[in-house]
Amino acid sequence: MAASRSRQVAAFRLPPLPTIGEIIKLFKLRALKKLSQNFLLDLRLTDKIVRSAGSLKDAYVCEVGPGPGAITRPILNAGIAELLLIEKDPRFIPGLQMLSEAAPGKVRIVHGDILTYKLGKDFPQHLKKKWEDDPPNLHIIGNLPFSVSTPLIIKWFENIAERNGPFSYGRIQMTLTFQKEVGERLTACSGSRQRSRLSIMSQYLCTVHNCFTIPGQAFVPKPKVDVSVIHFTPLVQPKIQQPFKLVEKVVQSVFQFRRKHCHQGIRILFPEAERLKKAEQMLMLADVDPTLRPTDLSIFHFKNLCDVYRKMCDEDPKLFAYNFREELRKKKMKNSSTQEGTEDDRLL
Ligand code: SAM
Repeated sequence: MAASRSRQVAAFRLPPLPTIGEIIKLFKLRALKKLSQNFLLDLRLTDKIVRSAGSLKDAYVCEVGPGPGAITRPILNAGIAELLLIEKDPRFIPGLQMLSEAAPGKVRIVHGDILTYKLGKDFPQHLKKKWEDDPPNLHIIGNLPFSVSTPLIIKWFENIAERNGPFSYGRIQMTLTFQKEVGERLTACSGSRQRSRLSIMSQYLCTVHNCFTIPGQAFVPKPKVDVSVIHFTPLVQPKIQQPFKLVEKVVQSVFQFRRKHCHQGIRILFPEAERLKKAEQMLMLADVDPTLRPTDLSIFHFKNLCDVYRKMCDEDPKLFAYNFREELRKKKMKNSSTQEGTEDDRLL
C-alpha cells in the first residue's frame, strides 16, 4: 500500500500548459498545405491514440511528426523514461522546446526528416532484445501526413524483414495513423475487397490491429478523409521466409491485375518467351489454383509462391533481375515507329 502510494507520488505529470490551440496561436503555427498538416486539438483523442500503444511505463518512445504536441503530451504523462521527437518543420521546434522544459530530462528533439533520418542508434544499448524475446520497451508513435506514412511503413517493413534500422533493438511496436482506406488495406483479410499488396506485406511480417477510426472533422484543418490508428507488432517468425525484395516482387506482380485471375500477375514474373510455361509450372508447384483472384489468396498461398519463385531464381540466376515494366518500356520505344503490339501490351 505504502509502496503504491509512493509510486503514485513519483508519477510524472506535465504542469499546466497553454492549450494546443493557444500554442498554435502563440507560435503562429498555421497548418501548411504543402506539408499536409492537419492537427489534433482534442487531448481525449490523442490520449486514446497513446493508450492504443499499450503500457508505456518506463518506455523509450520515438514520436514522429509531433507538430504542436497534442500526442506528445499524453505520451509524457504515460510514465515514460525518454521521448525522442523527430519533426521536419522548424516552426514547431520552439513549442516542442517548451514541452521539453516542462518535462526536464525526458525529451530529445531532432529537427529532421523521418524518411531520411537513420533511426538506428538513438536509444540506450541495454534496451536491445533478441528477436525471439518479448518486444523491447521501445515504441514508435506518430500521426504523419498520408504522403509520408505509407512510404515510411514500407521502409520499416523492409527494416523488420532485415532486423536492422530501429528494429536492430528487437520487435519494436508501432502505433501510427493512416488514411482510413489505407488502414483497411493494411489489415484486410483474404476475400475482402480491400485486400491488396499492403495487406500481404504488413501481415507476413507483423500482427496488425486496426485500433479505431478518427473522423476527419476532429482535425484542424479538416482533411477530406477519415483516419485510422493502426498498431503493429513484428512477428517472431515472418510468415514468408524469403528476402524482402523477392516477396515484394511476387506480391506486386500478382496484384498488378487485382481483378483478374492470379495467373495473369504470375506470368509477368517471366520473360515473354517462357512466360506461359513457367507461370503454369510455378502455380502448380505452389499448389495455387490459377483461377483464384489476387484478393482471394492467403498469406500461405503467397508463401508457397515465393518459395517456388525463389527456387526458380536459384536455378536461373538471370530471372530475378527480369523486370516486366522495364522490358515493356523498352519494347514500346522500339515499336512506337512500327505501331506493333506485343504480348506484353495485351497483358496490361
Ligand atoms: N502529430 C501532430 C498532431 O497529431 O496534431 C501533427 C500531425 S500533422 C498531420 C503531421 C506532422 O508531421 C507535422 O508536424 C509535419 O510537420 C510533420 N512531418 C511531415 N513530414 C515529416 C517528415 N518527413 N519527417 C518528420 N516530420 C514530418
